[in-house]
Amino acid sequence: MSSSSDLKITPVTASKIATVDFDNLTFGTVFTDHMFECDFKNGEWQTPVIKPYGNISVPPSARVFHYGQAVFEGMKAYKDENDDIFLFRPQENYERINKSAERLAMPAFPKEYFFNGLQELLKIDTDWIKKGKGNSMYIRPFVIATEGAISASPAQEYKFMIVLSPAQSYYAGEVKVLIAEKFSRAANGGVGFAKAAGNYASQFYPTSLAHQKGFQQIIWTDANTHEYLEEAGTMNVFFRIGDKLVTAPNNDRILDGVTRKSVIQLAQDNNIEVEVRQVTVTEIKEAAKSNTLLEIFGTGTATVINPIIGFSHSNEEFDLPKLDNSYASFFKEKLTNIQYNIEEDPHNWRIKVS
Ligand SMILES: *Cc1c(COP(=O)(O)O)cnc(C)c1O
Repeated sequence: MSSSSDLKITPVTASKIATVDFDNLTFGTVFTDHMFECDFKNGEWQTPVIKPYGNISVPPSARVFHYGQAVFEGMKAYKDENDDIFLFRPQENYERINKSAERLAMPAFPKEYFFNGLQELLKIDTDWIKKGKGNSMYIRPFVIATEGAISASPAQEYKFMIVLSPAQSYYAGEVKVLIAEKFSRAANGGVGFAKAAGNYASQFYPTSLAHQKGFQQIIWTDANTHEYLEEAGTMNVFFRIGDKLVTAPNNDRILDGVTRKSVIQLAQDNNIEVEVRQVTVTEIKEAAKSNTLLEIFGTGTATVINPIIGFSHSNEEFDLPKLDNSYASFFKEKLTNIQYNIEEDPHNWRIKVS
């Protein structure tokens, strides 16, 4: 393991921050002045660097382009009223990127490199993190296979990077979802549990077909029977039946979301009954017909909680009621208050960047 002095920092000569309109950010399109980069070669991770954000150079034969050896993470930093910066359960993201990497036969990234690099990057670009609820810094760590060789085997060379993109909370509009009856995002024994880049690529086509039918997202079902509800788009999914919350258990088809496990914990803390078990399409349609299905929402770092207002399956459409005291808004408020250092944090999820 390396000490912090091993990180080499080359700052920009002139910041581009003045060119950015922080009141009109489109998610994931603006990047800060700096990026973190660390190469893996000769069997080890080399000296990490922080340098000006810019293009990277890799050969056209880099295996990432041919065989999709690429994994990533999504996390956020938040600034409180005192200009302190906080991360939310970052250890979870660190462990998950290495779990994802292992599944794609990629090397694990050292913990000290990850946390030291991330903290130094956030500090050097601290002016880009705006305070006030809703503002955050979206953090995108990722690893790609850079070795130039197109034989079908794991690469010997990789690049680990972190880029930062300032974000505002955004209203995703009213989200209606289509329950998948034909396409699947994951299968038993596959890579569904990993944040593998290819999992996203394979969702784009079915999702664009859903768009054409007027639905913003797909609720993915199990590949064998299309009867078990698994994830909503790129989010975990919860159903509220009566006063009870239900969500599918993690398995190798479902991404172990940090927001998901935080919502389960917050439900337990607040005496909301939560069942982690398989959820069937039949059950949800019956609950919708008997008006006991009160809410569906997705959970993920980018939007936190994403309420779903209706769904369709086998040409039957269902609308969900509009509630004044939805669980979706309760959990969003609770979670963001913890993230922005507004509320107590009994589980020590909030980690101060220092
Ligand atoms: C990233 C992701 C999630 C959400 O995970 P969080 O840790 O809550 O951000 C859910 N499902 C899929 C498929 C994902 O890629």
